[in-house]
Amino acid sequence: MTRTVYVNGDYVPEAEAKVSVFDRGFLFADGVYEVTSVLDGKLIDFDGHAKRLERSLGELEIGVPLSREDLLEVHRQLIARNELTDGLIYLQITRGAADRDFIYPAADTPQTVVLFTQAKPGLADSPVARTGLKVISIDDIRWGRRDIKTVQLLYPSMGKMMAKAAGADDAWMVEDGVVTEGTSNNAYIVKNGKIITRHLGTEILHGITRAAVLRFAREAQMEVEERAFSIEEAQDADEAFITSASSFVTPVVEIDGATVGTGKPGFVATRLREIYLDESRKKSV
Ligand code: PLP
Repeated sequence: MTRTVYVNGDYVPEAEAKVSVFDRGFLFADGVYEVTSVLDGKLIDFDGHAKRLERSLGELEIGVPLSREDLLEVHRQLIARNELTDGLIYLQITRGAADRDFIYPAADTPQTVVLFTQAKPGLADSPVARTGLKVISIDDIRWGRRDIKTVQLLYPSMGKMMAKAAGADDAWMVEDGVVTEGTSNNAYIVKNGKIITRHLGTEILHGITRAAVLRFAREAQMEVEERAFSIEEAQDADEAFITSASSFVTPVVEIDGATVGTGKPGFVATRLREIYLDESRKKSV
């Protein structure tokens, strides 16, 4: 089956899905994105992603090209047209196409809007959730507005390559001696039953999964502390884990070669994954 992609108002076969070489997303990484997971044909936390998208656009003074209702309809159309059961919907909005100039083009330049599906059968049943991830630490040399979900993903991509070369699964980024976040996820440790994750700010992306997981943890009477931690503290923790829209809650069992806790996925990460998946499925749209 040929994948159907959404480009600027049209649903087209993927081979016909094209944007201009003058697109500012291509020339300046002048665009933002969202990834929303789909389980059983339904969207997980669509509202959270739509809200963050509007914030990212606002921070960059890019206009909002589609209402939340229209955006939901495009997501639903793509799920239906691609018969998607489990997978992801990638959405990207750029400032549009204009002759190359650092200065933003006129405000009435139409934004470029692209959405496509990625089928991931068994997304919620990933084997790595049962074995855990190995991560390495790398310097965080990204720009200072990591709270905006821009398409500048070269350094996260390099970080994943560094992890691969080191025989690990992913990398946690470190700045001023403390962990900011994973290359494409938020980072957590658990010590004496307390869940510790970096506080929000411009240094990290405000994960939609992070917000939901912390809410569920507090509702389940688990203690949460939002503060930075070092790699040494993480290596000495009882458990570690990551969250993201595509990995939900996934345990981390090794950091820079040091085993975390028992070296197996811990109780807190495993329980939070179950709660997150159960509750998010209930509210999926
Ligand atoms: N941090 C970074 C740098 C990310 O790229 C992502 C997701 O892509 C996250 C955190 C997790 O965010 P979310 O839970 O909204 O997927």
